[in-house]
Amino acid sequence: MKNIQLIEPTALDATALYFGDNGRAFCGHLNHSGATAYYTGRDISGQKVVKVSEEDHAEFTREGLILACESCASAARKSAK
Ligand SMILES: [Zn+2]
Repeated sequence: MKNIQLIEPTALDATALYFGDNGRAFCGHLNHSGATAYYTGRDISGQKVVKVSEEDHAEFTREGLILACESCASAARKSAK
């Protein structure tokens, strides 16, 4: 068969944390990131989701906060390079 394009099953890494609209934090699981972000890497506003970096984690830690997925509380620390 010709002209069949294989698309990436997901734009997100399930073991990473991301920032989306309004600074919400979520992991890369489908049910936590939302389908739009999961498949396109953009939140429903069209804004690209941003992978949480080690620097973000450090900043939250300095403030006495823990940066984690709002749905499962996963504090994945896989950082953006
Ligand atoms: Zn999660």
